[in-house]
Amino acid sequence: MTVRVRFAPSPTGYLHIGGARTALYNWMFARKHGGQFILRIEDTDQKRAVKGAVQALMDALRWLGLDWDEGPGVGGPYGPYIQSERAELYRQWAGWLLDHDHAYKCYCTADELKARRAAQKAARSDQGYDRRCRYLTPEERAARERDGLPYTIRFKAPIEGVTVIHDVIRGEITVPNSQIADAVLLKSDGLPTYHLANVVDDHFMGITHILRADEWINSAPLHINLYAAFGWENPVYAHLPLVLNPSGRGKLSKRAQAFDDHGHQVLVKVEEFRDAGYLPQAVNNFLANVGWSFGDDREKFPIEEAIPRFRLEDINPAPTRLPYDKLDWLNGQWIQDMEPLELAQALKPFLDRQGHEVGAEALLAVAPSLRVRLKKLTDADDFLRFLWDDEGNTGVITAERLAHNKLPSDAALRSLQAARDFIATVQPFDLDTLAAGLTTIGEAHTTNGKAGPFLGVLRLAVTRQDVSPPVFESIVALGRERALGRLDSAIALWHK
Ligand code: GLU
Repeated sequence: MTVRVRFAPSPTGYLHIGGARTALYNWMFARKHGGQFILRIEDTDQKRAVKGAVQALMDALRWLGLDWDEGPGVGGPYGPYIQSERAELYRQWAGWLLDHDHAYKCYCTADELKARRAAQKAARSDQGYDRRCRYLTPEERAARERDGLPYTIRFKAPIEGVTVIHDVIRGEITVPNSQIADAVLLKSDGLPTYHLANVVDDHFMGITHILRADEWINSAPLHINLYAAFGWENPVYAHLPLVLNPSGRGKLSKRAQAFDDHGHQVLVKVEEFRDAGYLPQAVNNFLANVGWSFGDDREKFPIEEAIPRFRLEDINPAPTRLPYDKLDWLNGQWIQDMEPLELAQALKPFLDRQGHEVGAEALLAVAPSLRVRLKKLTDADDFLRFLWDDEGNTGVITAERLAHNKLPSDAALRSLQAARDFIATVQPFDLDTLAAGLTTIGEAHTTNGKAGPFLGVLRLAVTRQDVSPPVFESIVALGRERALGRLDSAIALWHK
């Protein structure tokens, strides 16, 4: 049997981080078993449809590297993969259930249902739909048909007995059938509800395993009975543990905003993680630690290494928080592992977005030292400001600030002049040659014969930043002309 799993989001306009966890686990499971990962868009609730939402979902999945084998954008033999394009199929199978006495037409209007619900509430009973239309006599039914009343199609759920869900993660769950509602399958506008579309699609798309959020477990008994009514075999269920708020209390909001205990907003949209400077490798790694663990006490791992170890049976059913406190650490680790070129390429769009033009060479020069300093790509802004801002971030620089107890003011001036002359002509203008020449200059001017104090002064003179990449890298990144310009204005401070 080839494993076929699906991620079936509703298009809300963005990919929620909890949804990304579901997608990731489905993807890992498919990849582990050499199966297929399918993307299906569940947009039967047209009232909630958001323009551009499918694109946003696809962009976020692609950014995470969760490639789908079938679905929007890539096609496949079981398409279309967008439910609003499959309405005819659902109508057909709702009709089949009617014809086989597994469903009935319900003529109750929305207002009537509302009034009855209110009465139930007042009487503190919550039995759901009272099945009135299930028990209409043939005459009553015929009369309603004659009047051409609009209707929905409801499932004739079993009333006696129990339904057992075999969940790979949660074990066996037994639900009395009296708790299963006669759910609406087809609405009066002829469009399906989630339940019908979901079951029909999972069947016709050949889905073998359903890995989805825990909140859907309450729908499973209904779905299992629908499969049985159709005479279809139901897929294997694995309900993934609930993702809690950072405080550990309550479910992480499905809304676009969530807050921690201190009222700080936490990121929930995948695009927010991207824009905040997190790497997709780190976000996947972060999500793989939610309810599952790699083992060997390893928190940081490439997802490719996790795939062979991934087993549904090992997922912990307990609700769990997203380990936000680990995210920056993980991301920093991932940045450290990047090749300089890779980091330079990753930084480029962030700097472009801020309107900072930094050449590829400059970025490559500083990438090795940035690697060990950044937690997020966005942190680069602070370190690299000297590349686009002649003022740096130190405020006013004075000749006094450019001195050091081992490099008094006159020595500081002379050493900066020597550095200027050296930088003006040095060939080749590269890291090693600069380092060798400038170190010698430093050793010659400091009172302790060590280059350190001078290099600190030189770094401040050229970057005008308290914190920046190391001095030689900074000079290479600035380029000869700009480095000279910075030195000239530093030297000019002595003549003020
Ligand atoms: N459309 C549902 C959602 O948005 C999918 C639930 C399922 O996977 O069955 O989560």
